[in-house]
Amino acid sequence: GPLLQVTDLVREYTLPREHLFRPPGTVQALNGVSFSIAAGRSLGVVGESGSGKSTLARLVMALDAPTAGTVELLGRNLHQLPAEQLRQARRDFQMVFQDPYGSLDPRQTVERIVTEPLQAQGQTTRAEQREQAAQVLSQVGLRTNDLGKYPHEFSGGQRQRIAIARALITRPRLIVADEPVSALDVSVQAQVLNLMQDLQQQFGITYMLISHDLAVVNHLCDEVVVLYQGRIVERGSPGELFRNA
Ligand code: ADP
Ligand code: ADP
Repeated sequence: GPLLQVTDLVREYTLPREHLFRPPGTVQALNGVSFSIAAGRSLGVVGESGSGKSTLARLVMALDAPTAGTVELLGRNLHQLPAEQLRQARRDFQMVFQDPYGSLDPRQTVERIVTEPLQAQGQTTRAEQREQAAQVLSQVGLRTNDLGKYPHEFSGGQRQRIAIARALITRPRLIVADEPVSALDVSVQAQVLNLMQDLQQQFGITYMLISHDLAVVNHLCDEVVVLYQGRIVERGSPGELFRNA
């Protein structure tokens, strides 16, 4: 079966009574979303602001619970797993955020930042963590002596490599990348996307890539879904979709 299977996903938010511009009640941030991603493939998720992209990412990462529907990774229903099993399953899916400066704690060394997912798993010694940090740093094109540095000592593109190294360290099957290059200069964007592509080929990583930028999606993705008001309104290859755009 597919690596990731999302079925009839619904997320409703209850609006506060005093909300000014909408009647009290609920908003359907996601309204029956289904798709799958085969292992080693890349799905792009595009859509205007408010279409439900972040809500979808949070549900796939099991950071939020759906109102209805399922998220299955490797056949396991993430939102039904007991807490301890979910903690272990978290090795298999990691996230890379838009703004690497914002998501990297400026007071922590690169070593502490990159090993954070291993600290959360709590099964490795500090020495093992350091060794794995050195390995993933080299996989993203950084050096072992960067381990003791702090985020502000790096360029934007290098900080995004650090964020990717942090995601890689548990050897995940799925990486959810939310606007991973949109804070970077265009020339640097291509370098980071090429790195993501290389890692995919090397390790069989599967991506769910959220982006407002069709060129970025076209660079990395085999298939695209377009979200509009919480529903998938179009899907196809980037070529098919962007011919009509
Ligand atoms: P996108 O990431 O595409 O901008 P979001 O997933 O952030 O879209 O939002 C989808 C819809 O859900 C929007 O109408 C948004 O206002 C609403 N929404 C998102 N998060 C919340 C929340 N915590 N409470 C209430 N409404 C929310
Ligand atoms: P090596 O001796 O080549 O460094 P490792 O024990 O580090 O081998 O890795 C064993 C296997 O895991 C190899 O097939 C390698 O390609 C793979 N691997 C290494 N790093 C990662 C990663 N970040 N994600 C997925 N697979 C990885």
